[in-house]
Amino acid sequence: MTIIKHQLDYLATVQDPRTYQDDVLESVRFILRSCANSLNVSRVGLWMVADGAEDMTCISLYRSEDDSFEEGAILSPEAYPKYFNALVNSRVIDATDARTDLRTDELTETYLDVLDVRSLLDATIRNVTNGDLQGVLCAEMQGEQRTWLTEEQMFVASISDLLAQRLVTSSWAESERSYQALFDGSSEAIMVFDGACFKTANPAALEMFGCEHNELVGLSPADVSPEFQPDGTSSEAGAVAHVEKCFRGESQRFDWVLQRLDGSTFDAEIMLNLAKISGEDTLFAMVRDVSHEAEAKRQALLAQKQLEYRATHDSLTGLLNRDQLHQHVDRIIGQQRVQEQIALLLLDLNRFKEINDTLGHSTGDKVLVALASVLEPHVVSMGGALFRLGGDEFVAVFESAKLATELDDLFDIFNECLASSVEVDGVSFEMSASIGAALFPDNGSDSHELLRCADIAMYHGKNHDGASPWYSKDADATDRRRIAIMSELRQGIRDGELVLHYQPRININSGAVTGCEALVRWQHPDRGLLYPIDFLFAAEMTEVIHPLTECVLWNAFYQINHLRSRGFDVPIAVNISARNLPDTRLFDLIETQLAERNIPPELLEIEITESALINNPRRSLQNLNRLEALGVSIAIDDFGTGYSSLSLLKQLPLDTIKIDRSFVNDMLENATDQVIVNSTISLAHNFSAKVVAEGVEDQETLDALGAQKCDEAQGYFIARPMSAELFDAWLEDRFREAGAA
Ligand code: C2E
Ligand code: CA
Ligand code: CA
Repeated sequence: MTIIKHQLDYLATVQDPRTYQDDVLESVRFILRSCANSLNVSRVGLWMVADGAEDMTCISLYRSEDDSFEEGAILSPEAYPKYFNALVNSRVIDATDARTDLRTDELTETYLDVLDVRSLLDATIRNVTNGDLQGVLCAEMQGEQRTWLTEEQMFVASISDLLAQRLVTSSWAESERSYQALFDGSSEAIMVFDGACFKTANPAALEMFGCEHNELVGLSPADVSPEFQPDGTSSEAGAVAHVEKCFRGESQRFDWVLQRLDGSTFDAEIMLNLAKISGEDTLFAMVRDVSHEAEAKRQALLAQKQLEYRATHDSLTGLLNRDQLHQHVDRIIGQQRVQEQIALLLLDLNRFKEINDTLGHSTGDKVLVALASVLEPHVVSMGGALFRLGGDEFVAVFESAKLATELDDLFDIFNECLASSVEVDGVSFEMSASIGAALFPDNGSDSHELLRCADIAMYHGKNHDGASPWYSKDADATDRRRIAIMSELRQGIRDGELVLHYQPRININSGAVTGCEALVRWQHPDRGLLYPIDFLFAAEMTEVIHPLTECVLWNAFYQINHLRSRGFDVPIAVNISARNLPDTRLFDLIETQLAERNIPPELLEIEITESALINNPRRSLQNLNRLEALGVSIAIDDFGTGYSSLSLLKQLPLDTIKIDRSFVNDMLENATDQVIVNSTISLAHNFSAKVVAEGVEDQETLDALGAQKCDEAQGYFIARPMSAELFDAWLEDRFREAGAA
């Protein structure tokens, strides 16, 4: 069920009309070039045994270096007996070191060394009825050695089949003999028509339909299809239409449901082509059973949709999330017509925390869901959109010419709507909310500024009964609450109140400790130990994020050397905010500190999120590349929760992907999460990145991840985040146990 690049590339080639162009040499060239691109090798050639001869002639060989083709070279069995023998006896030859591989070493002096070819991947084309070698598709890796993956071997085998098929339908194969050999040998099902009925079929086709040759001959396409196709159309009418079009010279490629002679059905992909055989126009059908692929495609599509949904929606209420709020507002600001206003209303439920604390989170969650379903229709009926920011905060966005006046009514509607109570498990809750509102263009020019103003207005309202929900500069100046947190945090950082807790990560196979993540805490003199959720968001909204990250790094550097002094070379991963990435000074600091403190760069890792490149992508990327060059490894955090994924991954110098804990938590119960975890693992491995699963909370999940080839795991099941002292003790225990074992 994994999404494999080569499978997709193969499908793309099969579906491309250039594979079926009239000039067969051109289509062979096209297929060879696609094959070379997919495998990322510099040379791919097709060699065929000439009629009645033993030598193999190069039909065409693609060279990526100058995007050109060469043709006509000859290989003879007398010169290379071992190689020919290997070809006769293999479906695929994967020679990593072609010069020493016993199957290919005789090519060294005359071929491999001349062209600096180090590795070979060959797929043979053979006649299964008599075992004769028909030809070979040969991929050549120049310059460096290459170990061929199973997917790559399967891929060249499929491409060699495709080439064989293409040659069957070409006038190239006009000679009855070579036509017959290719026809019989193809692993793809081929049926030849006489008019509108089958005249003959190859062994692969008979196997596909589960019948004998004489049972299939004389049947029409409708006889091997169910009465109706999935879209409700008649199979008979559809089949006739395709056949007629093909006779008019339009090659056909389509998805179709076929029926075996025992009545069972399967998804197929069918290609219809005309070819001249012995001077006559002959219709061919090439059929691939794609039930397997169709299912995998459906699953992958479903996973993709779910990812998209999760990245854009709040998982609890199904409302659009914070990211979408910013996108939505910035989009309508971009399209703004003169004289229109945009209003952003922030609602924060009063006393919601008490519901959570006294009745439990699950009741709290139900209240939020009920509330969302009451509020949303009101907002929508007034032409607005509702978002959930997280916690008990909601935002409604409206656009209109006379907003301010219209919206005053809306505050009343909201308040009534909340007060008229929501019902959960038979109990009704009377709710109230503090509302803050900001207007575009008066209060700000983008979504972040508007949200900040609405937030200030909301807090002002909470502290001043009866204050207007609309943002005002005066309120901003007098409301000191948030500003106070920030200056407290700034001071706290100076006074050394930030501490780091450490959470280990292990290799799933060996159980060995592979590193740990530094998680920041604020030891507040009055309020006790605060977690990132209490102060990080505020820091990220202001400049305080800079001293915070620097402070975390200083602590981490100290800890790395402390651990080394105790004999533990444990890498420490530090979380870096998207806001930090364009800050070149921070990266200067990392570089000089690593050098001054004599820390091997491999012992520092950084974690960034998928939104990392949002601010100043060019500078951020430069900074990241610089770290990578130093040897500091880079991980993508919370993978799967943002949606820029693929295109972004390609640009980043990545070593590690951390699968977000929301997927890992539910993977045993939730099939979609399972698919997402699975696909992420194979995707990461395709990028040669290591995969870490976060939030592993039990043995079963750890086992399942191991079975899926996930590399490393982190989570409460292995250990909770710990203070530096506790982490020391934990490491001692762990290494003592490992030593004893
Ligand atoms: P994160 O990077 O995804 O960090 C992992 C979070 O998951 C931590 O929460 C950790 O305590 C929690 N966790 C670990 N294992 C499990 C598990 O098995 N189950 C569950 N349910 N949770 C688990 P924490 O420490 O509250 O950190 C929250 C977030 O704050 C972090 O998420 C990270 O995004 C951010 N953060 C933490 N420290 C820093 C920092 O120094 N700088 C920056 N910029 N962000 C930080
Ligand atoms: Ca992290
Ligand atoms: Ca994470």
